[in-house]
Amino acid sequence: MQPLRGTKDILPNESKIWQHIRTEATDILEQNNYQEIQTPIIENTELFKRSIGNFTDIVNKEMYSFFDQSNRNITLRPEGTAGIARAVISNKLYLDKNINRLWYMGPMFRYERPQKGRQRQFHQIGIECIGSNSPICDTEVIKIANELLTKFGFKNNYTLELNCIGNLQERENYKLSLTEYLKKYQQDLDKDSQDRIYTNPLRILDSKNNKTQEIIQYGPILIDYLNQESINHFNEVCKNLNYLNIDFKINNYLVRGLDYYNYTAFEIKTNEKNNQNTVCGGGRYDNLIQQLGGPYVPSVGCGIGLERLIILKQQNSVLNNISTNPIIYIAIRHSINQDISLIWQITNTLKEYKVKFELDLSNSNLSKQIKKANKIQTKICFILGDNEINNDYITVKWLTTNTQQQIYLHELSNYIKYIKKLIVT
Ligand code: ATP
Ligand code: MG
Repeated sequence: MQPLRGTKDILPNESKIWQHIRTEATDILEQNNYQEIQTPIIENTELFKRSIGNFTDIVNKEMYSFFDQSNRNITLRPEGTAGIARAVISNKLYLDKNINRLWYMGPMFRYERPQKGRQRQFHQIGIECIGSNSPICDTEVIKIANELLTKFGFKNNYTLELNCIGNLQERENYKLSLTEYLKKYQQDLDKDSQDRIYTNPLRILDSKNNKTQEIIQYGPILIDYLNQESINHFNEVCKNLNYLNIDFKINNYLVRGLDYYNYTAFEIKTNEKNNQNTVCGGGRYDNLIQQLGGPYVPSVGCGIGLERLIILKQQNSVLNNISTNPIIYIAIRHSINQDISLIWQITNTLKEYKVKFELDLSNSNLSKQIKKANKIQTKICFILGDNEINNDYITVKWLTTNTQQQIYLHELSNYIKYIKKLIVT
């Protein structure tokens, strides 16, 4: 049996990487006073159609939708923001606080052609700052995305790209001109872009096709269609990023694959040369919550693709060194009917001092058990044979130096403190 195409098992040795990322991220997010939110993986299909937009790739061809037993149209979430916007409305979170700073981490689903860094079930960590129209809010979100990437070990090998995509009206005006312009070159555009001229012309700006890109370069640009208010907001964000010494590049052609963004749109790309080099995407979405039936609650958010991060980290082998081995291996060889309470007294003490250990369960001979301890690269082996069990002491073998000593149960607490000082830091 194989897993479904585009899905993967995360096995124990990889899980340690995921745990590491979660811990590091929690640290930064808590410090910035962001709180975790967990929304359901399934939602009404309507939610995504109304938020992400009907003519986007995600809604058009990538959604996992099905009818449940009661004939409801359900979709496995393709991204996090729509569900959170829905949760803000369902739970009236805007009444408790003016600003809700939220984060999430979990699986997302898109029916795409699987390739390196592109799966059908993938994971995102994301943040949403809900309730502010200040450019400081945009800056805060970008700053935290930047901090997360730095904490995950990236430095100088990614680029933040930023664009101002204006408001709905400004974009509509631009779309009309863009369509007028592109119509003249319809035959020269790539197939996908031809299909998009009348449905989603903005996405054509994003095309990877060289010929299409060339045509775009001579066409109208969005910035010329923006009013002063949009431009002022964008300039403020740029100014703040400069204060923070966060490098960015303005990309006039950056649009996102979701309809709900306005004003600020951004992406963080690694310097890898492939189509899966975007690790983070985000922007401002002032009208989404209202569009879904809530009040006007301007917001900003972003999502980071975790598989892409992990691939990069594995290439840099930073994460391969996270140790999961126990510090103490307990080898036991006892006779039937022997009182083995010593074992539990030892494990209780180890638990008390939060030292990671593993009990051998094989009851094979002690030298075999010690071999096993060596194999899994434990530092210390506690040996408990008949003699030790009967006389309440432990033969402690340091596997790194091959030295051995005897420690009585009443000395154990102090001995563990000593071990911790030596090796657990
Ligand atoms: P792409 O252009 O690569 O398809 P996107 O614009 O569709 O990306 P977003 O919707 O902005 O992606 O999602 C945010 C992040 O989630 C992406 O930058 C990427 O890191 C990750 N991501 C998106 N789709 C996938 C996928 N199918 N598999 C793995 N990661 C993904
Ligand atoms: Mg995509």
